[in-house]
Amino acid sequence: METVTLARNAMATRFELVLHGENAPRLRAAGEEALAEVDRLEARLSLYRPSSEIARVNTNAARQSVRVSPPVFALLRQAQQLHRETGGVFDIAIAPLVRCWGFMDAGRRVPDADEIAAARACSGLHHVLLEEADYTVRFDQEGVMLDLGAIGKGFAIDRAAEILREDGVTSALLHGGTSTVYGLGAPPDGEAWKVAITEAPEAPPICAAVFLRDSALSVSAVWARSFAAGGKQYGHVIDPRAGHPVNKSVLSAIGLPSATETDALSTALLVAGLDGYEAIAQLRPGTRALVLAGSEENFRMLSQGIALAAW
Ligand code: AMP
Ligand code: MG
Repeated sequence: METVTLARNAMATRFELVLHGENAPRLRAAGEEALAEVDRLEARLSLYRPSSEIARVNTNAARQSVRVSPPVFALLRQAQQLHRETGGVFDIAIAPLVRCWGFMDAGRRVPDADEIAAARACSGLHHVLLEEADYTVRFDQEGVMLDLGAIGKGFAIDRAAEILREDGVTSALLHGGTSTVYGLGAPPDGEAWKVAITEAPEAPPICAAVFLRDSALSVSAVWARSFAAGGKQYGHVIDPRAGHPVNKSVLSAIGLPSATETDALSTALLVAGLDGYEAIAQLRPGTRALVLAGSEENFRMLSQGIALAAW
């Protein structure tokens, strides 16, 4: 049994693959092909690349309909569907608020009420029209902006897993920035891939252990990208209803077969928090879900299919 590991910096994070099989050169070739697809998707989806389809939409869609490729259109449709299904807490048109709170550049800070109001006025998928007939995107006003930061990595992981499967790989673990993980088949020495969810990056004790076999797990956390001001922690996931970073829940996780869905729904669950947990956890049959809220002294947790565990 051979093991091949490959890594690539993409989508502002690090993608890693571990592949097991009999033929190392073939594993490596399959892995390289999967990572090339991640690169291609970044080139299409990143709002930070002026030539990407999403950047072209952001620049032009307030003035004219912008045509996108069929896979990008399908992903936007899926994001719109997830927006509806999550009662609006998952929203790829949140970008003006993400920028307002300084998460698009180095200027992280607490904006004043007027800035938040202005950003809210152009945030939200209700400003975005997707035209099925000709695969075009149109905004209903200036200032609207799309950000696939909460779903793009999952989509890339799904595509990468699909390519590995097509190339005959039967045992692999893939992740994008450790926040979305996919277990393809099983590891050589077990029934499923064992993945840990930790409470904070530098801090075992382990929060939970999850077993993945042809399924995905995504984790969203306030600490993943955040800043402190006035004794408060402000994270990069924004509650579209409030226009503020999520502050009640600190960590969420979702397990399902599709990494695109786990990525989007873990972000949604962080926003939904304890109050909205039930609605998100019941959206798909067989969903594994965890949400952790509160602070050091007083944590509260809701979960299904994910048990707290020591490693
Ligand atoms: P994730 O790490 O998958 O939870 O995604 C977080 C990223 O998604 C943030 O850095 C923003 O770019 C974007 N984002 C923030 N809030 C939301 C939201 N409510 N819905 C969708 N995307 C969001
Ligand atoms: Mg996400």
